[in-house]
This record gives sequence, C-alpha cells and structure tokens, in this order.
Amino acid sequence: MEKLQADVVIIGAGVTGTAIARELARYELEVVLVEKEADVACGSTKANTAIVHAGYDAHPGTWKAKLNVRGNAVFPQICRELEVPFKRTGSLVVALEEDQVPHLYELLERGHVNGVPDLEIIGRDELLRREPHLNPHAVAALWAPTAGIVNAWELTIAQAENAVENGVKLLLEQPVIRIEREGDRVRTVCTPDFAIATRFVVNAAGRHSDEIARLVGQEDFRITPRKGEYYVFDRRFGHMAGCPLFPVPTAVSKGILVTPTVEGNLLIGPNAQDLEDKEDLRTTPAGLKEVLTEALDMMPDLPLKDAIANFAGLRAVARPSNDFVLGPASGVPNFINAAGIQSPGLTSAPAVAEEIRDYLQAAGLELNGKKKFNPYRKRLVPFRELSREEQAELIAEDPRYGQIVCRCETVTEAEIVQALHRPVPCTTMDGVKRRTRAGMGRCQAGFCTPRVAAIMARELGLSLDEVTKKGGASQLLLARTKELLLAKGAEAHA
Ligand SMILES: Cc1cc2nc3c(=O)[nH]c(=O)nc-3n(C[C@H](O)[C@H](O)[C@H](O)COP(=O)(O)OP(=O)(O)OC[C@H]3O[C@@H](n4cnc5c(N)ncnc54)[C@H](O)[C@@H]3O)c2cc1C
Repeated sequence: MEKLQADVVIIGAGVTGTAIARELARYELEVVLVEKEADVACGSTKANTAIVHAGYDAHPGTWKAKLNVRGNAVFPQICRELEVPFKRTGSLVVALEEDQVPHLYELLERGHVNGVPDLEIIGRDELLRREPHLNPHAVAALWAPTAGIVNAWELTIAQAENAVENGVKLLLEQPVIRIEREGDRVRTVCTPDFAIATRFVVNAAGRHSDEIARLVGQEDFRITPRKGEYYVFDRRFGHMAGCPLFPVPTAVSKGILVTPTVEGNLLIGPNAQDLEDKEDLRTTPAGLKEVLTEALDMMPDLPLKDAIANFAGLRAVARPSNDFVLGPASGVPNFINAAGIQSPGLTSAPAVAEEIRDYLQAAGLELNGKKKFNPYRKRLVPFRELSREEQAELIAEDPRYGQIVCRCETVTEAEIVQALHRPVPCTTMDGVKRRTRAGMGRCQAGFCTPRVAAIMARELGLSLDEVTKKGGASQLLLARTKELLLAKGAEAHA
C-alpha cells in the first residue's frame, strides 16, 4: 500500500468535491481528492436537470436557501474562468390553473426573503408571447431572470482539471474503505491502494456521505436516494422552450419541467420517487409515463417521436433535516461534512466550497494564498461550433480533424484524442462521451462506439477488450468472435 501525506483529503469528486478542491487549490496546501469511480462526475452530478436555480424555492433560513442565491451569483465568473458554457436564460414557474396563482405569490415572497433579485409575476399574454409552445391554457407565471442552464458534468470536469493543474492530487478508482482516528481526530484515510495521512478530511461523498460519516462514528444523519427520471429530445427541439419551464412545485420536488439544455436538446423530467437502493438508476415504465403525462400538460406539442434517450438520476436526501449537512462532525473537529447535497446542489456548489473552506480555517487550517494559482482552464473547443473557415484551418494543421467519428454530433478524431490526454485521466467510453458528446446524438452511439473504442485502445495502449464503458467490469468486448468460434471448433474436434 502506498503512503501519502496531505493537509486535506476530500472524499468524492462530484460537483461539490471538485468545487472544494478548486477552492483549496488557491492556497499553499497538499490536497488529495479521492473518488471511487473511474472518472469524476459519476454520482448525482452525472444525471440531473442542470439548472442554475434562481433561489426562490428553498425555505428561508436553510442552507439550500442561503447557498443557492450566493452560488447563482458567481456562476458567470466561474464559467468564464473555466470556459464552461453557461446561459442565463431565466426561468418560469407556470400556473396552469387559476387556483395555482396564489402559490406563485408565495414563491415570489419567499424569493424576496431569500434575496433573489428581479422576480416578477407575468400574465398569460406575455407568457404565451415568450413561450409559444406552452399549454395555451396557462394562466400566469413567476419570472426569475437570474436562473440559467449549464452542463453539470462539464463544470465538474473543468473544476477537477483546474484543481489538478493547480496541484491537487486526484486518485480515481479508489473507494475510501477505512478512516483511522487517534482520540477525537481523524489521522489516516485508507483506500485499497493508498494510506493517506492527513490533517483534515472533507466528506463530499454524495449518496454515500452517511456511510463515510459512520466511518468516524457520526450517526446523526442518513441519506436516502430519491430517483428522478427524464426524457431527452433531439437537438432540433431545444428551441421549443426559451428557458426552464417549471410547474408549481410540490412538497418533495420542483415538479416535472420542460427545459432546453445548454447543448440545445430539450429535456423533460424529473419525477420524484423515494427508494432504499442507492444505486438503482433504472428507468421504469411507470416513472417515464408520469414524466410524459405531466410534461405534456406543460407543452402539448412535445415531439414524442423525437425522444432519443431516457435516464434516471438519484438525489441524496439527508434525513432528518432534508437540508445540506455542512460542518464538522460532532466530536471529530477535523472531519468536515459537505453531505446530503440534493438540489440545488449544483447551483450551490461554489458557495458550499467557500463554506467548507471557512470551516476548515476555523478548525485550524492555515490558508496562505498560492502566488501561482491560475483560475483559468482551456476548454476543448468542439469542432461543430466552428465556422467552415476555422474548421478548414484545423484540418490543414491536423488531418485528424477531418475524420468525423460521431456523425450525429460531428465529433472528430482529433477531439477524442485530445480528450484522452487532458489533466484528469479519461479512460472510459462514458468519459469520452461526457467530454466530447461522441455518442450523445440521435443514434445514441450506434455508429461511433467501435470507432471510439479503437481510438481509445490505440491512444491508451489497451487491447480492445480492455476498453470499458465506465471502468471496473464494464468491458464492451469480451473476445474476438472468430477466436471464440475457432476455440469451440477445436473443442469439438478434440
Ligand atoms: C434528478 C436530479 C435533478 C437535479 N437537478 C438539479 C438542478 O437542476 N440544479 C441544481 O442545482 N441541482 C440539481 N440536482 C442536485 C445536484 O445534482 C446535486 O446536488 C449535486 O450533483 C451533488 O453533487 P455532490 O458532489 O455532492 O454528489 P455526487 O455528484 O453524488 O458526488 C459524490 C461522489 O462521491 C463518490 N463517492 C461515494 N462514496 C465514495 C467512497 N467511499 N470513496 C470515494 N468516493 C466516493 C461518488 O462516486 C461520487 O462521485 C439534481 C439532482 C438530481 C438527482
């Protein structure tokens, strides 16, 4: 087992853990970010609605309410620094019935208390002028101009890349299995391959943050998963919604909404189903039917035959608080939780990172600014976004730009090669998909899978049967068909 030393070990490389890692990378500290999966952004951060909420929804006084508004305010700057596409679209909560209108005023009032700027209620005519595909019976809406859309995993990859470029050590495929204490202090974080002696631990393990807290004896919260299912529509239909269109929310969720994605798809979902199994990411006929039925209420002309994929995400609901669990574990002052981060956790991530930094400082961590901290990260510029002239120039420089690997999303061989050699290791098909969009288009990877796998094998020095979808035992190919036949033939003749 390899021994490492750290000032801070962060457990979990979702949007929360990577935001904290990037925040701590500003200081002269040894920071180790530990993730059990083969890539960053594989937990709740992988599958969500990706809305940067305005902040009128959460109850005043909760962490969710305080950090949503603060996080929202810094999104433009962070996304500029990290070159992550972010669109400040605004959002609408739509009352489809007259008796829902008082609820809009409640949300307006709550938003004022939470400090959300520029909220207003708009009437039917204005609403339908802005959103012509909305149900024509819609009555009124709450307009929140500060809401926006982003891509949660792109932000997370960018935060992780920037953290690594600024000195954070990232350990992938290393589940934390044990945390050793001396008296009331955490001393060592253990994974299968590493023992990391550390002064502080941050628990950002999402749905598993209660199990990590148990490793140091903290029993006062637990996490239950709440599933949300979605449909994604072809990129030709993103224009049908100008911004996220929410129904009036319920007690457990913000309701099933219709939203454009930052890449131009149309997305509907999520429903909300409380579960026991923290890994149950199956979509269900009943869940998808619920999503469709409610989304059709909002937008009756949804292009049903152009739905190209469905998926599910799992929220990490902290019990009993139903709020983020932030701060030191009772009786273990150098173990700091950033746990139970359900929605609006993506929006709140920058503010959560600042809170955790402050908790670490209060617990005795010295924060000396790093002179060489570089807040900027260069994006992998998608070939499809360039003009014909720019594309021609790139092809002249590197002919691999002339090889289109994913036809639906116009992803070139050069982009895939670059994605495989960036600061955060990209070793899986899903990793390539999340970095380049190869496989995210209409044919859902039917055409490009073997081509991407061949490029990965060549670039990473793997055999084809070592290429995995998402790490671990998720190989795409098990053996060469002819070899199997020859082996069977040899057996038969033996
Ligand atoms: C359906 C749905 C819709 C949502 N919509 C929105 C939205 O529109 N806007 C918004 O602001 N928020 C939204 N959210 C919430 C947002 O996605 C989450 O709050 C956020 O992604 C949580 O990030 P995280 O880093 O805390 O957790 P995660 O992304 O789950 O990351 C935790 C990480 O810890 C790792 N880990 C776990 N155990 C271990 C271990 N033992 N050792 C090492 N690593 C470990 C996991 O593999 C994972 O990568 C939504 C969530 C869902 C599920």
